[in-house]
Formats: sequence, structure tokens, C-alpha cells
Amino acid sequence: MDSTNTDNPLLKLRHVQQIFTSGQRRFTAVQDVNLTVFEGEFVALLGPSGCGKSTLLRIITGLQKPSEGRVLYRDQLLRGVNPHATIVFQTFALFPWLTVLENVELALKARNVPPDIRTPRSLDLIDRVGLDGFETAYPRELSGGMRQKVGFARAMAVEPELLCLDEPFSALDVLSAESLRGELLELWTSGSIPTKAILMVSHNIEEAVFMADRIVVMDKEPGRILSELKVELTHPRQRKSEEFQKVVDEVYAMLAGQTEPELIELGTAPGEPGRTRVLPQVTITDLAGLLEHLSELPNDRADIYRLTEELGIDSNHLFNLTEAAEILGFATVAKGDILLTPLGETFAEASILARKEIFATRIRRLPLVRWLTNMLTHSENRSLAWDVIQTALELEFPPEEAGKQLDTLINWGRYAELISYNDDREQVYLETQSQPQKV
Ligand code: ADP
Ligand code: MG
Repeated sequence: MDSTNTDNPLLKLRHVQQIFTSGQRRFTAVQDVNLTVFEGEFVALLGPSGCGKSTLLRIITGLQKPSEGRVLYRDQLLRGVNPHATIVFQTFALFPWLTVLENVELALKARNVPPDIRTPRSLDLIDRVGLDGFETAYPRELSGGMRQKVGFARAMAVEPELLCLDEPFSALDVLSAESLRGELLELWTSGSIPTKAILMVSHNIEEAVFMADRIVVMDKEPGRILSELKVELTHPRQRKSEEFQKVVDEVYAMLAGQTEPELIELGTAPGEPGRTRVLPQVTITDLAGLLEHLSELPNDRADIYRLTEELGIDSNHLFNLTEAAEILGFATVAKGDILLTPLGETFAEASILARKEIFATRIRRLPLVRWLTNMLTHSENRSLAWDVIQTALELEFPPEEAGKQLDTLINWGRYAELISYNDDREQVYLETQSQPQKV
């Protein structure tokens, strides 16, 4: 559905706050959240673990009453469970002794919908999520992706006006997740389900840009909304397109706390007027180690001087690491402390594959990386000899520094799968799937 009806707010959260107490400790899980979801909107909630996303969904669907604030559904104060909303969880609990059809029919049965209505409706949904032929199968006979589809069919069988999804694809393998995303979007954009709005919690930035009309970015401690962004791309969205990548970059910047013009001076590319910033020489393993360490500390924050002891590294190495984390938007440094950004937190928690994606998106912004990928794009076979690049870099840096910069570029670029390097031939290649970025 491309027509968001801003005259028709479906859901309003006003100054919603959730405080949990354990023993003496009072803990603000959600602080002063104001959010409106309109009819026709697909909204994605992004943010690090523990920022209160699931808590918000429970509050929205009425499974939990907030400590403070109001939830309005169609301008009516919500009391108790919202009968017009449904949640699909990461892993959907199916009853093992019931067939696919019986599992889907269950919620309708509970609402006293008679068999002559509920059975055809359930069969139709099973068909539409792509499970035609599996009506009489039992959950144990299905793959994880298929079980999640049954979960979707069950959630949609009750024809919720507001469909809430809590990381619905994150337990699935890459292919099942992608096909199920496509099927949900197809149902949604074709208007063939009566659902009026979708609110999806996600950990996956590209997924949010692929699906949502609006992305709301949250941060934790306390859990709160940081900023939001409208995604104006038409469906079906092309992940590889420049416009798509631009929105992805904007979301990354929001998560990295850089909605203001770049806080960090990245410098210019070689050959352009101005200075090229030297990349700190660090390996991804060490950088990831630092980010993981910070993510385990209270408030994701540490005193830099203490870190040398905690991590057992010298201060020069640590300085390079904090600089790298800062350039990439994974951390901010102020008053002797280093503090993870939500993006740094997301990286620390992400799978290997997601880490590579995040890293690739971040280094593509660096003038040196842009310079190298552009040169490779315009070279024969999209490849250049190490020597040639080294010589080009020597116009910018002293020879020894040029060599170090190239080593770092290759190391980072390989990890991000933007470039590859053949040690025997001493030749650098542009990875075929990598996107040359427009300057
Ligand atoms: P998210 O879904 O964004 O990962 P949650 O909403 O699950 O975050 O949790 C937000 C914070 O509230 C976390 O720190 C979590 O430990 C805490 N929390 C959630 N539910 C409870 C509860 N019932 N009692 C105490 N703390 C809770
Ligand atoms: Mg959660």
C-alpha cells in the first residue's frame, strides 16, 4: 500500500514509559515514547538489543500496561488486550499435535468463527503464504521457514488491522527469510489482506529499508526513540540500486549518531584538493574485539586509559582502534571515555554475515575506499597491480605510509567483500557484486 493516510491515525502512543523494578533497582526500559502509526503504513522499529522494542509491542497490543502514558487505538484509550492487533514472534509456537490447517484455524476457533467460514479462509491463507499442499502436514514435517509461514497464516487468519512482527525473519535461514519477506510484501502491497498497518521490529537495516515506509530508530539505556526516516522508494525495491543504498546509508548514519553533518572529518580522496585522512592500521579482529568488550560494559562506555589494561594492549594500538571505531561510526570519544553508538552495538551483536554488510556500508563512505573502488571500476578486468596502487598512493603519502595504507585498504576491503587480493600475483580485484559508489 503506497497511500499512507495521515488523516487516519490507527495507533497513538503518548508519553509511554515502562519501568521495571527488581529488588531495590528501578530500571527505565522505555522512556517517553511518542509514536503515531497511520492507516496504510508499514513502520519498522530498529535499535540495539534491550532498547525496549519487544516491550513496546507488548504495550501496543495491550499484553502489558505501561507504567505511564497512554495508548490510543482509533482515538480510543486502549484497555486490556487489543482485539484488532496480533503479534508474530521470532519463533512461532505451533501445536505439534495439530496439522497446519488446524494450527491456522485455531485462533478463529477461539473466536467462535464457524467452520464454514474459518476453514475456507484458513485454506486460502495457507495457499497465499506458499504452503499449498501442506494443509494436513504436522509441524515436525516442516522446515523452520515453513513453520514461520504457518505462524504468519495464523496471525493473518484473524484479519488483524494492526499486524505486529517481532523480528519475524531472524530465526530463518537467508533464503527462507527472503522468500517470506517477498510473500508478506506481496500480500501487503496488493491490498489482498485487510491489514491496515504493519509494525515490524527488526535488527536488520537492509530488511527495514526493503520493506518499511518509515523507519524509527531507537537507542537503549533508557530505551527511547532517537529519530525517524521516511522511505520514499516504490515497491518492489531494488537492493542494488543507488537510491536504495542511499537510504541504507542514511539509516546507518542515524544509528551511528551522525544525523548532523558528519562529525568526523574524513578528508578528501587522493587527487582531490584537501588532505586525505590516514586510515588507522588495525585488523578487523581487534576492532571487533574492542566493540564486543564495550558492548558488555555497563552503558556501553569505558574509560580509555583503563582499556589498555583490560584488553592487554599498548596505548598506541588502542588509540588506533578507537580512531577506527570513530571513523566508522561505531563509537564516539569524549572526555577520555569511549562510548558505543547504536550502530557499534548492532555490529557487536551481529552475525558474521551481517557484520560484513555493516562494515562494507561504512567503509564505502571513506574517501580512500571510494578512490580505490572507482579506480578499479575503470581499470581493465576491474583489477590493478599492488605496485600501481602503491605508486598512486605515493603521490599522497610518504612511501612507507602509502604501503601501510594499502595494506589496511586490502585488509578492510577483503573483509567487507568489496575487493579481493591475489597474494601470488600481487593483484587487487574489485568484487563483482560490489557497487561502485557515485562521488
Ligand atoms: P528489545 O526487544 O529491544 O531487545 P526488550 O523490550 O525485550 O528489548 O527489553 C528492554 C529492557 O527491559 C531489557 O533491558 C530487558 O531486560 C528489560 N525487561 C523486559 N521485560 C522485563 C520484565 N518483565 N522485567 C524486568 N525487566 C524486563
Ligand atoms: Mg526483543
